[in-house]
Amino acid sequence: MDIATINGYPLSSPIDPVQKRPFFGGERHLRKRDVVLVVVETRDGRQGVATAGASSSAMREYFEGDSQGTFADIVEDSVADALEGETIDEITDAHDLLAATNLPAHLETEAISAIDVALYDIRGKELGAPIYELLAAEYESEPTTEMPLYASAGMYMEPEGYVEQARALEELGFFGYKYRPGIGPDGDRRTVDLLAEAVDEIELMLDVHTWWKLGESYGRETVRELVEHAADRGAYWIEEPVEPADHAGYVELAETGAPLAGGESEESPAGLVKLGETGAVEFLQGDVRHHEGFTGCRDAVEYCDGRDVEFVPHNFGTWLGLQANAHLVAAAPDVTLLEYPVFEDDPALAEATIDPGMYPFDLAFDIIEGQPDIEDGYLSVSDAPGLGVEVDLDVLEEYPFVDGAWTEFHYDDE
Ligand SMILES: [Mg+2]
Repeated sequence: MDIATINGYPLSSPIDPVQKRPFFGGERHLRKRDVVLVVVETRDGRQGVATAGASSSAMREYFEGDSQGTFADIVEDSVADALEGETIDEITDAHDLLAATNLPAHLETEAISAIDVALYDIRGKELGAPIYELLAAEYESEPTTEMPLYASAGMYMEPEGYVEQARALEELGFFGYKYRPGIGPDGDRRTVDLLAEAVDEIELMLDVHTWWKLGESYGRETVRELVEHAADRGAYWIEEPVEPADHAGYVELAETGAPLAGGESEESPAGLVKLGETGAVEFLQGDVRHHEGFTGCRDAVEYCDGRDVEFVPHNFGTWLGLQANAHLVAAAPDVTLLEYPVFEDDPALAEATIDPGMYPFDLAFDIIEGQPDIEDGYLSVSDAPGLGVEVDLDVLEEYPFVDGAWTEFHYDDE
């Protein structure tokens, strides 16, 4: 592949009016969702695309104050400088060229992630093959192109609100319902109790990224009790119950026997494997958009293969990112389940009895032409070459970048 141009377009999908979600001890404001669309063009006119963010985790982005706008600048400067005019034989050659730039580690990882996905898109188009076929050849696996989805929704609401969502998503056939507690220890306990009674088929997952942020008010003992309580009620997993870097905290909580999940916030593929090696998580959540693409996720996938830890991609963002992670799930051995983030007015969930979306994120849908093939809670990956989807470049006009943080946590004691 002879790389001609690389562009990074920062885009914002406004949340208007701003959503204000009270949690225990504060209020979270959601103003917009940002995406950087990365477009790579080769000299023979092929185009590869990927989405990227500013850092490994939306939560870290909030803490570090990075913005998607600065990441798009990095794509247009350092990344373009390193790759434009280069001939790439192996996709890892591009990793090496990016590793030779002087980018801070987390930005280098983010850049490699986007470029890896975009180059696989191009390679697939060159060969006339979907990415999952290229990956299946690498893994020596038989691809499975239909995969169960778990729905990722529910953010700090009354317990009854979560129940309503879980029921609607159960009816649509989703494998699981993942929600975000954080309304206070009593409310969180009541939510699990009500959910466990209300649904049969659908599994329940808790994404408790708030608990560790509420460390002061919840306290470690309460977090441990809540983890045990959720496990008692049959929770399928409990995600990020402690600060991501606190591997010892994971190990301690794992002693309760509760099924834990984590990994999305790991800053590198090596970090992902390390979290797996603690033995504390039953579910390891790498993401091609944050862990150096298909290439970077491979070590973690292979670590999990044949062990008591399952690789389940973290996937939170647009339908373009969904396709990227779906190709990995289709091809990677022992990887079967994919996260489906649920936003308001999702055209693919038009049959839902209520709108189970967390907040508006129209760009998530509009970024591709058409819509993913979702039926009865299963996604079928397109067998068209590369990622198998066309980006709708009208989004460059329709979703201009808006400066500032996408979300803020306001604490009562501040
Ligand atoms: Mg999460």
